[in-house]
Amino acid sequence: MTSWTALDDLDAKYRDETEAVTALLAARALTPDQRAAIRAQAEGLVRAARQSAKRQGVVESFLQEFSLGTREGLALMCLAEALLRTPDAETRDRLIAEKIGGADWASHLGQSDSLFVNASTWGLMLTGKLVDVDEEARRDPPGFLRSLVERIGEPVVRRAVAQAIGIMGEQFVLGRTIEGALKRAAKEGQVCSFDMLGEGARTAADAARYEQAYADALEAVGKHSKGAGPEAGHGVSVKLSALSPRYEATHEDRVWTELYPRVKRLALIAAKHDINFTIDAEEADRLTLSLKLLDRLARDADLGAWKGLGLAVQAYQKRSVLAVARVAEIAQASGRRLMVRLVKGAYWDSEIKRAQVGGRPDYPVFTTKAATDLSYLVCARALIAASPHVYAQFATHNAHTLAAVHAMAKEAGVKIEFQRLHGMGEALYRAAEALRDGAIVRTYAPVGGHEDLLPYLVRRLLENGANTSFVHALLDERVPAEDVVVDPIAAVEKAGVGPHPKIPRPADIYGAERRNSAGVDLSIPDEAARLTHAARALQRLRAGPASGPAQDVLSPSDGGVIGRAAEATPPEIDAAFAAARAAQGAWDALGGFRRAEVLRAMGDALEANADHLIAICTREAGKTLADGVAEVREAVDFCRYYAHLAQTKFAGPETLKGPVGETNSLELNGRGVFVCISPWNFPLAIFTGQIAAALAAGNAVLAKPAEQTPLIAAQAVALFHQAGLDPALLHLVPGRGETVGAALTAHPECDGVAFTGGTDTARRINQSLAARPGPIVPFIAETGGLNGMFVDTTALKEQVVDDVVLSAFGSSGQRCSALRILFLPSDTADMVIDTIKGAMDALVIGDPADPATDVGPVIDEEARSTLEAHLQRLGREAKILHRLEAPRAGTFFGPILAEIPSAKFLEREVFGPILHVVRYEPSELAKVAGELAGQGYGLTLGVHSRIDAFAREVRSLVPAGNVYVNRSIIGAVVGVQPFGGEGLSGTGPKAGGPNSLTRYAIERAVSVNITAQGGDPALLNLSL
Ligand SMILES: Cc1cc2nc3c(=O)[nH]c(=O)nc-3n(C[C@H](O)[C@H](O)[C@H](O)COP(=O)(O)OP(=O)(O)OC[C@H]3O[C@@H](n4cnc5c(N)ncnc54)[C@H](O)[C@@H]3O)c2cc1C
Repeated sequence: MTSWTALDDLDAKYRDETEAVTALLAARALTPDQRAAIRAQAEGLVRAARQSAKRQGVVESFLQEFSLGTREGLALMCLAEALLRTPDAETRDRLIAEKIGGADWASHLGQSDSLFVNASTWGLMLTGKLVDVDEEARRDPPGFLRSLVERIGEPVVRRAVAQAIGIMGEQFVLGRTIEGALKRAAKEGQVCSFDMLGEGARTAADAARYEQAYADALEAVGKHSKGAGPEAGHGVSVKLSALSPRYEATHEDRVWTELYPRVKRLALIAAKHDINFTIDAEEADRLTLSLKLLDRLARDADLGAWKGLGLAVQAYQKRSVLAVARVAEIAQASGRRLMVRLVKGAYWDSEIKRAQVGGRPDYPVFTTKAATDLSYLVCARALIAASPHVYAQFATHNAHTLAAVHAMAKEAGVKIEFQRLHGMGEALYRAAEALRDGAIVRTYAPVGGHEDLLPYLVRRLLENGANTSFVHALLDERVPAEDVVVDPIAAVEKAGVGPHPKIPRPADIYGAERRNSAGVDLSIPDEAARLTHAARALQRLRAGPASGPAQDVLSPSDGGVIGRAAEATPPEIDAAFAAARAAQGAWDALGGFRRAEVLRAMGDALEANADHLIAICTREAGKTLADGVAEVREAVDFCRYYAHLAQTKFAGPETLKGPVGETNSLELNGRGVFVCISPWNFPLAIFTGQIAAALAAGNAVLAKPAEQTPLIAAQAVALFHQAGLDPALLHLVPGRGETVGAALTAHPECDGVAFTGGTDTARRINQSLAARPGPIVPFIAETGGLNGMFVDTTALKEQVVDDVVLSAFGSSGQRCSALRILFLPSDTADMVIDTIKGAMDALVIGDPADPATDVGPVIDEEARSTLEAHLQRLGREAKILHRLEAPRAGTFFGPILAEIPSAKFLEREVFGPILHVVRYEPSELAKVAGELAGQGYGLTLGVHSRIDAFAREVRSLVPAGNVYVNRSIIGAVVGVQPFGGEGLSGTGPKAGGPNSLTRYAIERAVSVNITAQGGDPALLNLSL
């Protein structure tokens, strides 16, 4: 059997698309004769389906009328998604008013003969039949709608909309309970695979609840099935992410101790009743884990001779052919017949996004629809060939795919099954009745309450409303059947085997400007293990001048000595200034273009040494591996981004417009010698970023790292020098703030200071600069924040909790952007708090070199005791809601959730994993937010809401340099989210933004009177 490593190989997961698609073509899934016959059949199916769709499926009608390409479609989806979970009437009304007010519902009226579409339109038209659609309505439908809302009152609107959405719910969910769903399936004569709706588990309690729901469903389905067997009877589909809050490759141990027993308990029930039990396919990062689970289950003797165990495989993954081969091997080797559902895949857009954000080597999925379709055919052939070890189930709503699969199965004489989603593909499968020779069409049937349905529905509609989707084309009568049917082999041959021309590889998303930094895929065990090994095997390092007494540098995770650092002495500081001053003029004169080359070389050097640098971040700063990867990537991005700015903004004099007879230009130059003082929490990224900015603008630099993290800084400086920077231009001056820092900022040769750190220190530096004689120099300060996140009742709890936990406890809360105060509406506060507590319990606190660790240590004993002191105060004056235990060795501090009465409770930033919660009444938002704003900080701000106006209101109440809506508030990306605060949080300009370099530079304007030479030749030589 092929090893798991082969499946998780980077070259397999991120295989070059051209190579992968070439291999798919070479597999010759269909002969030319078959292709012609299949095309004809598929076109016939399209025509027949269109004919038979007198009364279309509701989803089809919906999609046709409210496509997500229209404002109304989007508004309706957003409304539907949020309305049912919003408990308070006031917020519901705001949501309705906002989403309805801006849309043109009137234009959809009567456009479809579907009961549902009209019902919802009428519902949304606010019982329009009762109100005369007068002239005004025809002239200005949105205005009419708004005035209608005013006239008939919001409660009526609320009822009408809720009713419309209720109708939709009835149509897409087979039943609210499994019993109801079974009854309806019997009435409609459907064979189903039931799916329990809901978001993935965030807490152990969620997972236990889902297990119970699945177990109940299995029992009910089993009893109902009365021995029909896994092929003829109903089954159940399970999402493993619902059964564990940590179904992740980096938590594989936990998968075996917690998730596996849970899945096995469910499988035992399915086996007892002899029904089909299928593990749904989820994200690509989970593929190998799901196959490993299947492998173990298949070999588990406790499951007896049961043949109902199944797994879904996604054809859009580049590893789909490997996965199918692996499943077939498992079936053969274990002797257990497996049921395998082949799908194309439901998470394509998020796979593309994840790969871009993570700087992955390539995409794990194909980037063209034709490649996915072709992959499906190749996988289908392999699955059919794997019979009888595999019972193949084909889930599709695509006529060509259906006809092709049917042809392959018929040729092989193998019995197969088709599957469709409830509410979709009815007409197609009706049309295919004769063709499929009695093959079962199983319906994937969601079961659950409406509030759980909507996120599912939105995902489905997004996928199927896409213009690449077959269903979308099928619905559009204007598209002839021969165009609706696409033969993927022909499509690939025509378009070429390469990737989609509009989807750049993750490295190229910033175009020619700069290359995206490369990440590390920690879901691949070998990749994570390599980093762990590098951290554990790290040799002792040294920082600072060789002379002078050196101190041990200790690791916060275990107190071990990891190197030594010496403090720069006053004569060394003088010498560094003198050397820097002497070298700076030539560097400035080189121009932005040449300086950019050095910075780019530095970016590449950082990337080439990433493992070593991550190891130092882990040992010296206590960063988790994921944080270490992000740290190096940010440093790389800074170098490349500032190289781009150097090249574009420091390329030479810019000519300005003016009167004839003179030339006017403006030029940017370096100021001289910059002092860069950086913090320990981003010991590489901010350290490198400040230096790169100063260098890009044409300055020389003296860089003082934080006392706690001199070793990584020394490595960065060495890499700058290796990358071709004259050592005289960059000097490492390690030491304490009160000695070295003070000497640097008071030094007469200092032409500017870039500082990131605490607000108090910034103030001291500012005072010291002000006290100096000579020129007034710029001071660029990025300081702390009291960062808040405001949640309203329309927000999705799971999204809120994910983002809160990451923002507050990620990096042990030691980011200046970290979330400090969470503002929760009183209506949903308890529910959100309970889930946050559960999600906190799922966090792993410990050795940051272990890939499973989420929360590492705080930086040192001093930091820990400050947090302890704050904890004591919380114990006395506030309410501690939850506290996690921390390891004893090293300087760990267990994350804390505490409720405080108001933002005023916090006088200053508390730098660590402590999240404060403030409950608020929506009517008091202005007061509550005002109290936060009154503290004077302005760094990051988060909002979670489906109401745009709420986000706008919060933004207007709380000034902040970086606002994040419906996402975490940490992890600003260079050039994408320029970072930096206002008020007590910093001076600007933002780091990693287009204006970053302005204060590092001086501006010189030059005006030349060319008439002084006798005249303006350009003016005198004007032609007609
Ligand atoms: C019964 C059933 C069970 C399902 N279970 C799962 C499951 O467990 N896991 C899961 O992930 N999905 C599952 N799905 C969802 C399924 O993946 C989608 O419904 C399916 O992709 C639609 O395929 P199609 O043949 O009907 O449509 P088509 O319209 O022919 O194909 C749509 C597919 O093409 C892909 N695509 C679109 N554009 C591109 C592009 N540029 N590059 C590459 N690919 C592209 C889409 O992502 C999608 O996968 C299931 C579907 C059904 C019917």
